[in-house]
Amino acid sequence: MALLQISEPGQSTPPHEHKLAAGIDLGTTNSLVATVRSGVADTLADENGEHILPSVVHFADKDEILVGTPALSHATTDPLNTIASVKRIMGRSVKDLATLEGYLPYKFIDNESHVPRIDTAAGAITSVEVSSEILKSLRERAEASLGGELIGVVITVPAYFDDAQRQATKDAATLAGLNVFRLLNEPTAAAVAYGLDQQAEGITAIYDLGGGTFDISILKLTKGVFEVLSTGGDTALGGDDFDREIASWILNQAKLKATNDHQMMRRIMKEARRAKEALTAAEAVDINVVLNGDRHFESTLSRHQFEQLIETHINKTIVWCRKTIRDAGVEVREVQNIVMVGGSTRTPYVREKVADFFGKQPLTNIDPDKVVAIGAAQQANKLAGNNPEEDMLLLDVLPLSLGIETMGELVEKIVDRNTVIPVTRAQKFTTFKDGQTAMRIHVLQGEREKVADCRSLATFDLTGIPAMVAGAAHILVTFQVDADGLLSVSAEEQNSGVRASVEVKPSYGLSDSEIETMLKASFQHAEEDVHTRALIEQQVEADRVLEALRSALAKDGSLITKEEFAKIEQAKSILLSARQGNDGEKIKQAIKSLENESEAFIARRMNRSVQQVMKGHKVEEFE
Ligand code: ADP
Ligand code: MG
Repeated sequence: MALLQISEPGQSTPPHEHKLAAGIDLGTTNSLVATVRSGVADTLADENGEHILPSVVHFADKDEILVGTPALSHATTDPLNTIASVKRIMGRSVKDLATLEGYLPYKFIDNESHVPRIDTAAGAITSVEVSSEILKSLRERAEASLGGELIGVVITVPAYFDDAQRQATKDAATLAGLNVFRLLNEPTAAAVAYGLDQQAEGITAIYDLGGGTFDISILKLTKGVFEVLSTGGDTALGGDDFDREIASWILNQAKLKATNDHQMMRRIMKEARRAKEALTAAEAVDINVVLNGDRHFESTLSRHQFEQLIETHINKTIVWCRKTIRDAGVEVREVQNIVMVGGSTRTPYVREKVADFFGKQPLTNIDPDKVVAIGAAQQANKLAGNNPEEDMLLLDVLPLSLGIETMGELVEKIVDRNTVIPVTRAQKFTTFKDGQTAMRIHVLQGEREKVADCRSLATFDLTGIPAMVAGAAHILVTFQVDADGLLSVSAEEQNSGVRASVEVKPSYGLSDSEIETMLKASFQHAEEDVHTRALIEQQVEADRVLEALRSALAKDGSLITKEEFAKIEQAKSILLSARQGNDGEKIKQAIKSLENESEAFIARRMNRSVQQVMKGHKVEEFE
């Protein structure tokens, strides 16, 4: 007789059943992989004991691709083939890259799909391929140290990443042979690492100051679901600015100007960074660097001096905090927890300023480099089913509303922003014209009422609808958003069963701040939009009534009297002129009077068609 394995409820799975899963922080500068072992989440080291993998890939030729520290050492000697900061171009089109120029020294090649390719010695490489090399390296590291294949991973992305950027990240993972359980917002992962998802509810601020970027996110937790209330930040602000301040201090002290002596500048920058990091623990640091012509510079930099050098940069982050909190519609004192993320939050002055602003101490006891990867690892562990006692799965919400275009270039929202995902929502639509046999479905993202103010994601046609009178077709449009925020849309005409669908892989294209801008615009224009919408709805209704009348007159014009016709014509011309204006109420009135004038004619028409149907039949048959 087979023995059943019995385990107490709440006990974790025995080690041999433990499924291997990992969390990956795919960063702009650095990436990490973490996993949960014996109930504890921690990052994994490479064979040299390094936890941090620089997000840099060197493409010397097809068979020689270097990732991480070895790639970094080529950055200065072979810059065009050494790709860093690829995260900045994930999911971007060639057009988008124009705005990023200056940051990126690479040669980009445009092509039909407008997915930019970087020209390297190993061929033309897409950002997805570059990212995939980083992910591959992390996967190998995890599988080597865990001794088996990963069944799935959670990869973190910035909260403001749009569909295209998320899709590109997922594509990179697939290319690296990884199964993505889900993508998780970076600030959400950081909050999870601190166990904040275990609390009932509350407002959390995630302050993320890395090497080259600053992000602030305000999250609201309700029943285990994090909602991103607002995000803000600066894609060109971080610890690198602190390094530059120290470097120019050194140049000043040495009475030198910034030169194009790259070797020397690099030595100075390197010393600046070392000094900055040392000042986190020390009150003062000795600086010693070789300048040009064997000249040495020696001095001491105190923490206080350093703090004066970086003051304006930190103040900038505080201005962003204030603004982002205001965008979230909350008060500073309502923020219960502040989570510190990113290497630069180690600087004591950063912590001090943040504590001053929020009026409470930020959470700092988890390593700020690892906190995002750790939160992701905890989620991956849950999603792998390693904690059977914990069934609560953390969910994310949709950053922007999704909808379709309706008559008059209006957007009908089908899934509202901040809806918890995954989600499926359906809505019925109908045809506008008699005999309409096809319908174009235009999928849009955004908060505004007009198509032109939202972002177009995809279009597809539902064809083969049997010819019916306007309004008789029942077209069910279904939106399905999966746990990663990726969308598929289908449409079905329910009488005939004809179907069409599209998986929305949006055209690559929103910039960092565009979601934010779109949201803000929708708040600013809310009133104006309501007015515009009301007007357009009346215009569409006017067109529908005029079209119906035209078609009725064409078919049954004989049923109308001369007087009626004159009155209808007059009401029609009043409506036509109201239709030109922008007074919705006026159009509404004109529609009403036209309907009144044509009432008798329509009634006669109805009677006749009933009579036609009944011709040759006995009345009883219809009872
Ligand atoms: P990113 O998010 O851009 O990938 P990280 O979060 O890894 O960046 O942060 C890197 C930054 O953290 C660098 O500017 C680095 O100098 C800084 N940093 C690392 N250690 C310290 C430290 N001990 N004190 C101050 N800054 C530090
Ligand atoms: Mg980071």
